Amino acid sequence: MDIERPTPKAIVIGSGFGGLALAVRLQSAGIQTTLVEARDKPGGRAYVFEDEGFIFDAGPTVITDPSCLEELFALSGRRLADYVELMPVSPFYRLMWEDGFVFDYSNDDDALFAQIGRKSPNDVRGYQRFYEFSESVFREGYLKLGTEAFVDFRSMLQAAPQLLRHEAFRSVYGIVSRFIRDPQLREALSFHTLLVGGNPFHTSSVYALIHALEKKWGVWFPRGGTHALVRGLLRLFCDLGGETIIGTAVARIAAGPTRVTGVELADGRRLAADLVASNGDVVHTYGTLLGDHPRGRRMASLLRLRSFSPSLFVTYFGVRGTYPEIRHHTILFGPRYRELLQDIYSNGVLADDFSLYLHHPTATDPAMAPEGCSTFYVLSPVPHLGKYAGDWEAIAPGYAARILDYLEARLIPGLRANLVAQRHFTPAHFQTELNAHLGSAFSLEPVLWQSAYFRTHNRDGALANLYFVGAGTHPGAGIPGVVGSAKATAKLVLADLGLPQPQAHAAQWPSNAGPALAAE
Ligand SMILES: Cc1cc2nc3c(=O)[nH]c(=O)nc-3n(C[C@H](O)[C@H](O)[C@H](O)COP(=O)(O)OP(=O)(O)OC[C@H]3O[C@@H](n4cnc5c(N)ncnc54)[C@H](O)[C@@H]3O)c2cc1C
Repeated sequence: MDIERPTPKAIVIGSGFGGLALAVRLQSAGIQTTLVEARDKPGGRAYVFEDEGFIFDAGPTVITDPSCLEELFALSGRRLADYVELMPVSPFYRLMWEDGFVFDYSNDDDALFAQIGRKSPNDVRGYQRFYEFSESVFREGYLKLGTEAFVDFRSMLQAAPQLLRHEAFRSVYGIVSRFIRDPQLREALSFHTLLVGGNPFHTSSVYALIHALEKKWGVWFPRGGTHALVRGLLRLFCDLGGETIIGTAVARIAAGPTRVTGVELADGRRLAADLVASNGDVVHTYGTLLGDHPRGRRMASLLRLRSFSPSLFVTYFGVRGTYPEIRHHTILFGPRYRELLQDIYSNGVLADDFSLYLHHPTATDPAMAPEGCSTFYVLSPVPHLGKYAGDWEAIAPGYAARILDYLEARLIPGLRANLVAQRHFTPAHFQTELNAHLGSAFSLEPVLWQSAYFRTHNRDGALANLYFVGAGTHPGAGIPGVVGSAKATAKLVLADLGLPQPQAHAAQWPSNAGPALAAE
């Protein structure tokens, strides 16, 4: 006679993309999962708010590797397309410099070669060689190692040959410069690390893979905005039978000497579980949620010695009028590149100049603003609070005004006169709203000595049923990174519980999984 095993119970703390992806994976595998989120809406950095009819996605906007998202739906025979529509964005980015040089970055090779050829004829061949490098590191670093948990040093040793072959000890900028001579093209091909919190001059060459990843799968935007994707994942989780507690923080993880037993919520409720996974900031998890446990205190003090990514200053604004000439994603390079990054990453200086990312979602989905209006956000990387401890409440209005003046002069004529809605998110908000250590926007800096085995492990080394998922764990920040971390963590959980691993779903892009479910 078969003895029925009780259904294992899991708690996932935090509903960022990593937490959502892990919750979906655990629930799909038959583990009864409860997702607990402190804020009033799910999504974490991918929060959303509405002001005067403008819909503002708070964080991620460049959606890459849709296949990693499709796989979450394919696990239960569903299709992403039945939950959310992804629309292609082209060019991926428009890059603009102050001297008037403009580069449209896309996966149209002919257009790319033509633009590179016009700027620097000798760099066309160099670009092709850089792409080969990027493709190779993408295959080895992303496809093979991006979803493996590095919980012991042996796994790091096994990866060492690939890391050496791709000169992981060199920086992305160093590798790009080997192939490309033109200074602006070097910036165009190296800025990507900033999207995951890394300085191109310090971040390992492995991150050059982002270029190939974008070219392979393209850049996408969900209809209704990034938060439509968050809502789609949450609906998938609930359709699978998952439970949610939104708007209540976890105050404490309950733990004995070698295992965790559940969590205590801020409203006093206690939830028991067979395992707990934290998608919250790693210092917050160890230092606060496990602050009364020796393991928590020890790990938090070690983590505080690490190097954290910078923060961001984001201004969200809605304006009257439409701007068809402004692309969905624009990078505005300022007068300095290396020196500005040094101010942000090393010197802790809030510089007078800036390089900006401008998000213009109404270029792809006009419904994100009232009719005849446009939604934008502009983001400026700034030092985190451990390097620059200015009073952001006092600084923010002036800093935002300087950025908007700059945008008006360079790209959006009449911006100030047509402004309808505006608000900002500062490093202090990252700390208070998201429990982010030092207000860092991307958690641990993605440098070689903080990657893979050297990053927070997907499973704690002493508390055997405590897991981690999200930007502070392997492989790191960015949506594909944290969704990959969920896969790595889920593999560990299933192995630990003696449950079968899901069959490799041929989740390709676009959707090819089983019969479509009727969209609700
Ligand atoms: C402005 C901005 C723009 C970005 N742009 C892009 C982009 O275009 N493309 C891209 O791929 N990436 C981008 N990124 C990076 C990407 O958004 C993040 O790396 C990723 O979303 C982080 O996901 P995460 O799983 O680590 O969780 P997070 O988003 O950090 O969420 C963690 C969640 O845990 C919750 N939490 C914390 N403590 C507790 C507690 N005690 N109890 C309950 N809940 C708790 C928090 O409230 C939060 O909801 C951007 C980031 C920012 C900030």
